[in-house]
Amino acid sequence: MEQSIDQVGAAALREIEAALTPEAVHEANTKYLGRKGLMTQLLRGVAQLPAQERPAAGRHANQVKQRIEAACQEALDRLEAAAASRVERIDVSLPGRKFGSGSLHPLTQITHRICDILTRMGFEVVEGPEVESDYYNFEALNIPKNHPARDMQDTFYVSEDIVLRTHTSPTQPRVMEKRTPPVRIIAPGKVYRCDSDITHTPMFHQVEGLLVDKNISFGDLKGTLTAFVHQMFDPLTRLRFRPSFFPFTEPSAEVDILCVICRGKGCRVCKQSGWLEILGSGMVHPAVLENVGYDASQVSGFAFGMGVERIAMLKYGIDDIRKNFENDIRYLNQF
Ligand SMILES: [Zn+2]
Repeated sequence: MEQSIDQVGAAALREIEAALTPEAVHEANTKYLGRKGLMTQLLRGVAQLPAQERPAAGRHANQVKQRIEAACQEALDRLEAAAASRVERIDVSLPGRKFGSGSLHPLTQITHRICDILTRMGFEVVEGPEVESDYYNFEALNIPKNHPARDMQDTFYVSEDIVLRTHTSPTQPRVMEKRTPPVRIIAPGKVYRCDSDITHTPMFHQVEGLLVDKNISFGDLKGTLTAFVHQMFDPLTRLRFRPSFFPFTEPSAEVDILCVICRGKGCRVCKQSGWLEILGSGMVHPAVLENVGYDASQVSGFAFGMGVERIAMLKYGIDDIRKNFENDIRYLNQF
């Protein structure tokens, strides 16, 4: 009896060892340990042995059975591990696969650059709400009720008194109301206007700047913006201040730089003028200072605002503003 148990056990272990698939392991398991399996039959045979032989034979048969069960489990584990390692096998002779890496959007890069330059001059970055009240967007900035900028054609109205801010300038009264001079801030952010063509999109980005203190003059404005332009473009960039009008500054000036494409000779980008407009600026209107409770006879200041898209287009030579918002990876990859 013991001999046949050993023989069947050894045969079972050999078959399990040789199995190449999990199915073959399961087959061997059924063949030896199934209901009609060879080992099962031997175990039943133990019951017919004389009483004094039964305990030893039974113990031996059970040990062999457990060894077969363990071998089956081991074989299954081994085959599973082999299958997993086949999937991960690496061919070291293949050329490496390039992983695409992300980068910041060109407008984000320009915004960071603008803020970098100005914060180094001592300006602090602040932000304001994009959904703004009529008061901060217009009234506090000395933009009267009948001003054309308030037209439904130009401004997105949420309700009669609430608008999507048309510029970052509302940050000026919002900050000044809470602080006493000196105030030295820049406010980057999204602004909204009903406008859409090759040079306008309904949403675009601005950076606002404001400085209020004692004895601030137009010379401080010129010096600050000249230093800014020289760092933003290059130190040889020529710029000019052209008289203009904004309700919240007096006097006001638009700042032009010598065309970066043609260097002043005249081209399509500068519309043959040789100059490119890059920002609006001026001395803060006394009415704006009085609106926030400042004494306009004691303090003065300057403000400026620039379009981030406009600067990106000039710096990178982009001809269509809408490319910034199409998420075309071929365009974005260039920056
Ligand atoms: Zn030009």
